[in-house]
Amino acid sequence: MARYTGPSCRVCRRAGEKLFLKNGKCFTPRCPVEKRHVPPGMHAQRRRRLSERGAQLLEKQKARYQYGVLERQFRRYFSEAARRPGVTSEYLLQLLERRLDNVVFRLGFGDSRPQARQVVNHGHIMVNGRKMTLPSYEVRAGDTITWRPGSTKTVYYKRLAEAPPSELPPAWLSLDKEKLEAKVVALPARGDVQVLFNESAIVEYYSR
Ligand code: ZN
Repeated sequence: MARYTGPSCRVCRRAGEKLFLKNGKCFTPRCPVEKRHVPPGMHAQRRRRLSERGAQLLEKQKARYQYGVLERQFRRYFSEAARRPGVTSEYLLQLLERRLDNVVFRLGFGDSRPQARQVVNHGHIMVNGRKMTLPSYEVRAGDTITWRPGSTKTVYYKRLAEAPPSELPPAWLSLDKEKLEAKVVALPARGDVQVLFNESAIVEYYSR
């Protein structure tokens, strides 16, 4: 599965704000937003005011990089959301949020989404008792998320079990901190999701 693997804080420079794509770097002065207020690229010095379309594009890119989704798949999420009755932006957000790599990140099983994605890729996670290695798997209400028995012997798991995530997962997920087992209680609603972008602008971007 393809994903963006370039320098994560280059995206911060483009957006002009910290996006916390990787754990750590944005919390330090090493995130370039702290020093350089110019976007990346040769002609960055000639900073022009963003058009409305440019601003919408930026919101879309921020969402895409945050969830680690390439353009084609992101567009697919959008068309699926647009097909449903109701508020497109809310469905779009829900589809992104239901990705298994995001769920593993929200549960605190990884410090960042790229790390959570690797935990899934490496076959450590089971959904409803079966190994699931697809980061893009869309969880459903009632799904259980557990560690593969073999994976509980890894150093990674042991560290996590010794110091389970201190923060509670969002309300739509329940987590047993002793067993590190989780359940999808309900599908995420708009109020359950904290994001650093404006999802309505994304819908406008694709709907012109
Ligand atoms: Zn950064």
